[in-house]
Amino acid sequence: MSGWIVSIILLGCLVGLHLFWQNRCRSIALGQAEATGREAGLAKAVGMAGMFANMPEGVLVTDADGRIEFANQAFCRLFDLQENPSGKTVMEAIRIHQANDLIERLKVESSIEQEEFMLPDLEQRFLQANGVAIREKEGVHRGTILMFHDLTRMKRLENLRQEFVANVSHELRTPLSIIKGYVETLLDAEEDPESMNHRFLAKIENNSNRLTFLIEDILTLSRLESGGIGLELRDIDLGQLVDSVLDSLREMAGKKGVRLENHVGEKLSLFADSQRVFQALNNLIENGIKYGGECVCVSAKSDGSEIDLCVTDDGPGIPAEACERIFERFYRVDKARSREMGGTGLGLSIVKHVTQLHGGSARVESAPGEGASFHLTFPIPDKPVVTETG
Ligand code: ADP
Repeated sequence: MSGWIVSIILLGCLVGLHLFWQNRCRSIALGQAEATGREAGLAKAVGMAGMFANMPEGVLVTDADGRIEFANQAFCRLFDLQENPSGKTVMEAIRIHQANDLIERLKVESSIEQEEFMLPDLEQRFLQANGVAIREKEGVHRGTILMFHDLTRMKRLENLRQEFVANVSHELRTPLSIIKGYVETLLDAEEDPESMNHRFLAKIENNSNRLTFLIEDILTLSRLESGGIGLELRDIDLGQLVDSVLDSLREMAGKKGVRLENHVGEKLSLFADSQRVFQALNNLIENGIKYGGECVCVSAKSDGSEIDLCVTDDGPGIPAEACERIFERFYRVDKARSREMGGTGLGLSIVKHVTQLHGGSARVESAPGEGASFHLTFPIPDKPVVTETG
């Protein structure tokens, strides 16, 4: 008789647990379970929870108040948690403010949001968190699902690659400058400019120069990528900066019969590193002279939150498929033309990194036969503070 009673009590507990679990799952069912299709949504949620449990990525589900509803084993392992964090806020459980910021952002954003951060542990692990909001059909925020991915190995490999590139480029500089020195001496001694020796030496000099530009560009790019270049941010007079870039390129433009125009209004200031912006503008204007038509024009406008710096030319333009790839390293629309012009294929990649380092972005607008407009967008900080970042 007592066996029956124990069985009935156990059965009751199981039914209770099942109902409790059903409730939990309903709250993470991404609001998809409508009155008519509730069972399908629920089955999906139960499946999801089972799937999350065995995933190598850390998965976290929070409710509308940011309290943890579900955390899988991988999440607990990633953050070295000894006990299940359910019921706690993210700050209480893992003390990572970037994860907390992500949850706050997802209360209003509908897109997938992302954060990368380093764990404050001895191993200096690097994590990426992707999050999406759980909303009901009416748009009511029910919570968030976050997925944490360990990027440490990838970051280490990336650092190794960057170090390798920087070291190789650096090592190539010395022998190259010795070659150039000897070639210059031999060229000076060669009296007949039409002689075979003179012509060959001139070719060696020309190609040594190309190699020097390439090495300098690779070094600049690897420093920009690794954050090895500290930005010296200050207010710069944009009109004056554009003038100085145009002055340095006037001789080159003159030889090609290209007109240079500065349309940047007076007193427009940009909070940026002048040397880096000079470099980005130089690359764009130089390209405008090399690949463009008769005129290269620089203009700028501000909407109060960002400054849009634009370099326009009236040249042959760039085909649509090339516009999408033009900021990639070593991408050229016309390889032969780029080489003939002494291009390295890295100029626009440097431009992109310079703007990204300032928190901005670079893009191109062009169509064949209609010239090209390169836009660099720089955010205007709320409170400009003179700082050095690295
Ligand atoms: P490069 O050293 O070859 O000039 P960049 O990265 O500066 O390398 O430019 C990449 C390619 O984009 C160039 O090779 C050229 O084909 C194309 N390009 C750049 N600027 C322009 C422009 N203003 N008009 C047409 N094509 C351009």
